Amino acid sequence: MNIGNVPMGGDHPIRIQSMTTIDTMDTLGSVEQTIRMVEAGCEYVRITAPSIKEAQNLEEIKKELRRRGYTVPLIADIHFTPNAAELAARIVEKVRVNPGNYADKKRFEQIDYSESTYQEELDRIRKKFTPLVRICKDHGTAMRIGTNHGSLSDRIMSRYGDTPLGMVESALEFLRICEDLHYHDIVLSMKASNPQVMIQAYRLLVQKLDEEGFQPYPLHLGVTEAGDGEDGRIKSSVGIGTLLEDGLGDTIRVSLTEEPEAEVPVANALAERYTLRKGSPIPEITQYPIHPFEYIRRPTHVVVNLGGHQVPRVIADFSAKTKVTEASLFALGYHYSVPLDKWNIGDMACDYIFLGDTVIDFSCPGTLGLIYNHPTWLTQKEKERAYPFITAKDYMKGVELSPVLNFIYGLLSEATPELINKLKNDPTAVLLIDTHNDHGLAEQRRLFVELMNHDCLVPVVIGRAYRDLAPEQLQLYAATDFGGLFIDGLGDGIFIAAENCGGDKVVNETAFNILQATRTRISKTEYISCPSCGRTLFDLQETTAKIRTRTNHLKGIKIAIMGCIVNGPGEMADADYGYVGSGPGRITLYRGKEVVKRNVPAAKAVDELIGIIKEDGNWMEI
Ligand code: SF4
Repeated sequence: MNIGNVPMGGDHPIRIQSMTTIDTMDTLGSVEQTIRMVEAGCEYVRITAPSIKEAQNLEEIKKELRRRGYTVPLIADIHFTPNAAELAARIVEKVRVNPGNYADKKRFEQIDYSESTYQEELDRIRKKFTPLVRICKDHGTAMRIGTNHGSLSDRIMSRYGDTPLGMVESALEFLRICEDLHYHDIVLSMKASNPQVMIQAYRLLVQKLDEEGFQPYPLHLGVTEAGDGEDGRIKSSVGIGTLLEDGLGDTIRVSLTEEPEAEVPVANALAERYTLRKGSPIPEITQYPIHPFEYIRRPTHVVVNLGGHQVPRVIADFSAKTKVTEASLFALGYHYSVPLDKWNIGDMACDYIFLGDTVIDFSCPGTLGLIYNHPTWLTQKEKERAYPFITAKDYMKGVELSPVLNFIYGLLSEATPELINKLKNDPTAVLLIDTHNDHGLAEQRRLFVELMNHDCLVPVVIGRAYRDLAPEQLQLYAATDFGGLFIDGLGDGIFIAAENCGGDKVVNETAFNILQATRTRISKTEYISCPSCGRTLFDLQETTAKIRTRTNHLKGIKIAIMGCIVNGPGEMADADYGYVGSGPGRITLYRGKEVVKRNVPAAKAVDELIGIIKEDGNWMEI
């Protein structure tokens, strides 16, 4: 399909887009920000049109851009206001509507619908939405039907709950109307701030399109309210990257609480991997035991602290070091206190270190396991918490094993029925899997399929090796490669071997951040912050940084920081607390979806938020 002069879908490259954050009524500001985004590599630019006056001003913005020689297609972002959409559709190349709030105002009501009252609702939507479809058709304007997990209509919530199925049905209600009117210039999206929900919803959408005989419409991928910094990048990569690995996605937007230009290189880095990728073939799957639409962890037996219902374990790679001292462990979350002669263990302290042939000669923290190459382990085997790393070949040869825990290293090509059978009957074995295929995620998933189809309950540590990457690239690539497996309930541990990709701390924290983003191991506070747009009522970047500084020690709590009260509360998803702009210099504070304090002056709002967290008994002093 064409969006202005930039085609999308089919064999066209994955298109990069972003959204302006400036007030749409600020014509020059919007033009200049759009140009900065285009220069950074943005191929479509979305601009919010909350009411008819902003929709009208899109014409001025477009005119000025064209006058300056920029032909970038513009997309009007619409919530709640059909009249703004109908005007914008005559001006710009694409409109985005949110089916959760195009024809509905959210009242958070649970309503019991009979078949006929539900049908009446659908008829009402049809009446409200049809004029826009006709205008788009007449003007050659494309449309995105963009579902958001956090802003499903009361109708959908009442019938389906806030589930991936509800998200899909929300889009299909609108899509059926478009198809009836023979309008097909449509892109679909299923965004959520939780990558797990987002991935399941997109996959389910594709399945439903196929089942119901719809066209395979292009998909716009994004994780909403991903936040900022490395957390935002990792969360986005887990969501977007997993779907790109699945072969889904025609255009992407990485939503960061940063300047929109900063989103573009991240999106480019994610998309570029697929333009250059060659990959080797992977054996066909005849029986698929993994659940793509719901989280079910692969059952495994427990070996020491790996497998079963335990959180995935983190293994650091120190095998390239010739000397390891107490200070080397600081980067891995362990701090040695000399006066107390004790180790302090941080929330992001790794569980094991792979040392290769480098022997440790000091007393290690009691929670840390040490893994040595098998010949070196033979010299250390009497020591506590020392375990061998054994190749699949040596394991099959029958080398001496630890009576407690053995890490068996293998690739898909080595996963013979004999190896799987031996692992199945070995209560001390943990399989550490690797891949040399460019399609690494798919190959490793194939190995899990093999284990599952043989009812092999061996715990699995997922390993990947990287070399010569900038730390930011490492975060994006690793989050993609591991994220999709953990999201599918696969993996009992994570092992990142990274040569020349940043310091040990970066690599260790990347592993923990991936587990946090996949919600398989929570080690810190989670922030859900909107990327900001023309509606934003305060400086989101500065405020997010301020809140983060005061609360980043509150492990397991989710705090949403949203720029406006129109969309913010709906899109806070499953946050425990919300900090939402409700007027110039005014903040409304939420506990879950309930308003606790309205219109607090911004200067006091962070203290008030902390007060609420304290009242709930969720505060900890540092
Ligand atoms: S929540 Fe944030 S990004 Fe969404 S409309 Fe409001 S200010 Fe814009």
